Amino acid sequence: MSSYDYDLFVIGAGSGGVRAGRLAAELGAKVAIAEEYRVGGTCVIRGCVPKKLLVYGSRYASAFADARGFGWSSSDLRFDWPTLIGNVHREVDRLNGIYTRTLEKAGAELHLTHAALEDNNTVRLANRDKPVRARTILIASGGHPQIPKLPGAEHFITSNECFQLEQLPESIIIVGAGYIGMEFASIFAGLGVHVTVIHRGDQVLRNFDMDLRDGVAEAMVKRGIDIRVNTEIARLDKDGAGYRLHFKSGDNIRAGLVLAATGRVPNTMALGLQKAGVDLGWNGHVVVDEFSRTSVENVYAVGDVTDRVNLTPVAIHEATAFAETVFNNTPTPVDHANIPTAVFSDPEIGTVGLSEEAAREMGHVVDIYKISFRPLKYAVAGRDEKMLMKLVVDMQSDKVLGCHVLGPDAAEIVQMAAIALKMGATKAQFDATMALHPSAGEELVTLRHKWEAPTPMAGSDAAA
Ligand SMILES: Cc1cc2nc3c(=O)[nH]c(=O)nc-3n(C[C@H](O)[C@H](O)[C@H](O)COP(=O)(O)OP(=O)(O)OC[C@H]3O[C@@H](n4cnc5c(N)ncnc54)[C@H](O)[C@@H]3O)c2cc1C
Repeated sequence: MSSYDYDLFVIGAGSGGVRAGRLAAELGAKVAIAEEYRVGGTCVIRGCVPKKLLVYGSRYASAFADARGFGWSSSDLRFDWPTLIGNVHREVDRLNGIYTRTLEKAGAELHLTHAALEDNNTVRLANRDKPVRARTILIASGGHPQIPKLPGAEHFITSNECFQLEQLPESIIIVGAGYIGMEFASIFAGLGVHVTVIHRGDQVLRNFDMDLRDGVAEAMVKRGIDIRVNTEIARLDKDGAGYRLHFKSGDNIRAGLVLAATGRVPNTMALGLQKAGVDLGWNGHVVVDEFSRTSVENVYAVGDVTDRVNLTPVAIHEATAFAETVFNNTPTPVDHANIPTAVFSDPEIGTVGLSEEAAREMGHVVDIYKISFRPLKYAVAGRDEKMLMKLVVDMQSDKVLGCHVLGPDAAEIVQMAAIALKMGATKAQFDATMALHPSAGEELVTLRHKWEAPTPMAGSDAAA
């Protein structure tokens, strides 16, 4: 008889853990999975899903404004936060139920408690006296928001608390201009909150293509968001019913709430990873190989805890590859190239492949094709906002290395373009594709002229 209670023990029932646990159980493994908060993890409970629902809610303000150009008017427009957040919670509860039932149906045993390793085969569950033993362990414990270390740090809220607010503040300061910061800036601004974004770098959305960064910042400022770059924070004080954020420059500003959107760190504390001999990297993440195997042969890790590409579809893909490798006798490495991603700010970003800057840094000689235009809908709506489409093309091979879109439906457009990039499509193949008219996406297959940097004017600094 096996000396193990389970073939697989999964720590964390988020995007990665649920997928791996379900697949392994369906492949005949005896599986247990521990979750210390709520089944579904970050994405379902306090990430992608509730965030996207808030994005939808926040965009009605501009939709109503645009509707006037199409002849619609209404004198009775009001917004009620408790209605929106209540409905979001109901949907999250529904999904939480579906995820739980999916695991149960597959035959995985669910333990709603904290789990930690005692060694590489032994798991201690916080709600049980006796530890359990498993042949294979999967760490899928995700990550959590990082809060800046400064006096008054306890006053920050994080993205987690944004989903629990009983009422909206009149104003909010968002520290950090990564994708989560920019998305919440658009959500709050759309819902009528005065938003200030504080960023220590010189432009929002580090690592995205520069045209997207400049374009989205310009549009968000135009929509009334105060974006302050090159600004370092020093201290956060309570100030009456709100908070006062002090900068290193000596200036300060006040708001009803201050949100720290300053990155996330892997959940590797209190997991007993040292006891099991699992190596951690510089950021506290679990170090894994292309099969998601850690430094210990029978211990694997997937998702945000490995800090590779921290997105839900990536965690799910890594989990699927893990189950194939370990429980279906099909070694499956994970390819992290050309992962499409979005920023659900307003305007929205969709992007896949290399930014122009990254392509050049990697030594590619590139041709740039780009167009900035006012979408048809905005012409009648009277909205003075441009959409941007950009292709980064390798000059030698004609391969499209990057596709970047800013504007309505950018995420939907780029999801499809990602298939072409994954297949190694060339610019000539984009050009040979018939346009779908009238659409915004058709611009990607009708980009005929290479973009050339404007020649500096004689007598200007740049020309000197
Ligand atoms: C605000 C926000 C918005 C996001 N938006 C998007 C988006 O639009 N698109 C996208 O692709 N990604 C988005 N993400 C990222 C996405 O949510 C994560 O990449 C994804 O959830 C990672 O899945 P995971 O399985 O690695 O971890 P998680 O989903 O975080 O699951 C880990 C689970 O492990 C549990 N756990 C941790 N330690 C233990 C323990 N010791 N014992 C028991 N249980 C434990 C946790 O409670 C958690 O439920 C967003 C994230 C945030 C925060």
